Amino acid sequence: MLKLDFHPAGRHFLQIPGPSPVPDRILRAMSYPTIDHRGPEFGALGLKVLDGIKKIFKTQQPVVIYPASGTGAWEAALSNTLSPGDHVLMFETGHFATLWKKMAESLGLKPEFLGLPGIEGWRRGVQPQMIEARLREDTQHAIKAVCVVHNETSTGVTSDIAAVRRAIDAAGHPALLLVDTISGLACADYRHDEWGVDVTVSGSQKGLMLPPGISFNAVSPKAIEAGKHAKLPRAFWDWTEIIEMNKSGYWPYTPNTNLLYGLSEALDMILGEGLDNVFARHDRLAEACRRAVRAWGLEIQCDDPSVYSPVLTGVMMPDGIDADAVRKVIYERFDMSLGTGLGKMKGRMFRIGHLGDCNDLTLMATLAGVEMGLQIAGVPVAASGLPAAMAFLMSQPNTPKLKAAA
Ligand SMILES: *Cc1c(COP(=O)(O)O)cnc(C)c1O
Repeated sequence: MLKLDFHPAGRHFLQIPGPSPVPDRILRAMSYPTIDHRGPEFGALGLKVLDGIKKIFKTQQPVVIYPASGTGAWEAALSNTLSPGDHVLMFETGHFATLWKKMAESLGLKPEFLGLPGIEGWRRGVQPQMIEARLREDTQHAIKAVCVVHNETSTGVTSDIAAVRRAIDAAGHPALLLVDTISGLACADYRHDEWGVDVTVSGSQKGLMLPPGISFNAVSPKAIEAGKHAKLPRAFWDWTEIIEMNKSGYWPYTPNTNLLYGLSEALDMILGEGLDNVFARHDRLAEACRRAVRAWGLEIQCDDPSVYSPVLTGVMMPDGIDADAVRKVIYERFDMSLGTGLGKMKGRMFRIGHLGDCNDLTLMATLAGVEMGLQIAGVPVAASGLPAAMAFLMSQPNTPKLKAAA
């Protein structure tokens, strides 16, 4: 990207599943001068974004905003609610679930990693009945938290968080429910309060269409109560003082002012479009993408249609083909970035992001770039995927504005 002596014509196609492209409107909002973070103007901004972000998480409870990437908010969720040596039950959905589990170990927790054998769990998402069975065995209530990833960005598989809640309740278990929806928020329906989630972790650079750099913990009264007894060391991540100062729109330290300008703009855009329209737009583009992949004769990483991700599609390569070599061709020839295979899927798949500021023609151009890259790289392709995607998009008009005007 940083070619100082050469700038390719047109926009780079950033079709990785986060960071997602940042709309010009948000970039412009972020270019306002940085203001005094203790002054009156800042308080108004703080209150606006803290209130607006609650609507995105569908919560009435506080949402803590950290000047950190999503990884920081993972740590905040664990360190604010748990104590050294606590048992936590995590579910292996993919690379991000694995990283969160590694973090839990580093912090001195005792994670237990449930999962399906091999890469099955990487293709099917959380199995709530396994969580229920494990919690039923834990009659002493040694397990203090259940941690799951809502949209596993390494695979393109979502998980049914309401079903995880029901599983915990069915087992009559008091464990906290901690959920990572770093890439799911503002792409797929998410209901922090209704689903009884205790801490929801999210980040700025995926569905919220912001650059990386801020992340979130939506909390429940039960999580705040747990925090009073939690003994993991924490200072920067401690949410107590932040929540207190946020009541007047301020932070105990210097917040990321310009990213908060961006967040304010993103909230206007997302809430202006309407969350349901945003989710429908994501579902529709994801379906068009999957139709193209099927027409190519390639396999979709997600093996359970009920949990297809609206955020990204994982495309598996036939045996003997290096997915990263295909990505390289596409990058070099068409100036487009696709997501690499992570962890167990390294070299075996690539990921097409279709989240955030993406429309029909962004997707069609993306699919055209992928199709040309597949052919150049010598990947056997059954047929063009473009007509399948186009036919679907044409058959399903997405014109909420025109509908509203009619
Ligand atoms: C992106 C992502 C992360 C990591 O967030 P960073 O901002 O890179 O720290 C964690 N979990 C999921 C599901 C993600 O998509």
